[in-house]
Amino acid sequence: MFKDQEMEQRYLTDRFLVDHLSIARAFIVFSLFYSIFVMVDLQLTFIEPKYFQFSIAQKMVVPIVGLLCFFYVNKNVSVRALDQAVFVYAVVFVINLFLSFYGYTHWTTEPVTLLEITMASVFVNLLISIYAPLRLHHQLLTTLFIALMTIVFVRHEIHLSGSKSSFCFAFLMIANGFAWSITVTIHRNFRRYWANKQERDIDNHRLRQEIQQRERLEIDLKRLAMTDTLTNIDNRRSFMEHLHREVKRAQRQHNPLSVINFDIDLFKHINDEFGHDVGDRVLVDVSRLVEERLRESDIFGRMGGEEFAILIPDGDLEDARKLAEILRQAFHHHSTLHQDKILKVTASFGVAQFKINEHIDDLLKRADQAMYKAKNAGRDCVKTQQQL
Ligand code: GH3
Ligand code: MG
Ligand code: MG
Repeated sequence: MFKDQEMEQRYLTDRFLVDHLSIARAFIVFSLFYSIFVMVDLQLTFIEPKYFQFSIAQKMVVPIVGLLCFFYVNKNVSVRALDQAVFVYAVVFVINLFLSFYGYTHWTTEPVTLLEITMASVFVNLLISIYAPLRLHHQLLTTLFIALMTIVFVRHEIHLSGSKSSFCFAFLMIANGFAWSITVTIHRNFRRYWANKQERDIDNHRLRQEIQQRERLEIDLKRLAMTDTLTNIDNRRSFMEHLHREVKRAQRQHNPLSVINFDIDLFKHINDEFGHDVGDRVLVDVSRLVEERLRESDIFGRMGGEEFAILIPDGDLEDARKLAEILRQAFHHHSTLHQDKILKVTASFGVAQFKINEHIDDLLKRADQAMYKAKNAGRDCVKTQQQL
């Protein structure tokens, strides 16, 4: 018995329900063996013919009840149904067995010995207690019941002298007590095994949860390491990773690939005039502005400060220039509202197309140079760079 009531209930439910089909089958197997035992009885010649038919009919009750129990348990999958079936079957079986013993002493010519009776009662005790899913108090009651029935039987059927019968009763009780202790040990081990398994299951569950949590954390960390905290777009590191991958793909597939580099014009003034916080807000604002105008396949990253880059896979110089022009105009017409003041920023764009076998640094350098060309040309414009 587990101290924790909930655990006890779980144990019983687990054991009874998981085993319910095998227990249902056990009724059949048990009944089959009993039927064989009855068939063997048919061969016994020492039963008096007038009791023969009655003896067989009485014994056939057990397999019939077993079959009924099987159907009952199969139909009602519950701890209660199992309890009822096992109880009915055990009672029918034990009563039947003692009727058989009665038959042996009254209807046969062979005398039954005390040893035979004791062995039978211990055997029945073990069989019921081990194979039937009894609880501890059921087991104790079963043992007492069998021992008492045996004692009553011995007292009435085998007439022993006073001292001899006390010895017999003590012997019977000890034998059945022994059988009881064996079954208790078996059930205790079973419980211990179950409790350990529960603990292991809980540990495994906890471990699985921990692993999942770590995996989630790793994903979050990776995302954090790849994202710019202010604007929530790719950071320089992530942009460079994408660029390396896309350059390899462009080389493999001989597809065009272009880069736009842009830097916000005279951003220092915004910071100086309105403060760093407002400058931050403008950076977030323009990031959204650009993002909204990009395709799914375009990669947008903050390269540092107020400098950004866009990678256009499958886009040639003209595609990139057109996109840069769209973005430039968007900047030009956009304004950020701050305390009733309208903040306007423009940006200078540099565009370069990737050349097969060109080093990535050279590509970025060319885009940068084009961007400086735009700055030098008076800002708020797009410049392209053909060659280094
Ligand atoms: P130009 O048109 O030549 O690019 O002029 P500029 O003022 O933008 O040039 P500069 O590169 O000298 O100044 C960039 C400024 O951007 C300086 C720095 O304080 C500001 N800045 C860089 N990173 C951040 C940021 O994360 N938040 C804010 N608010 N300002 C930033
Ligand atoms: Mg700037
Ligand atoms: Mg700058």
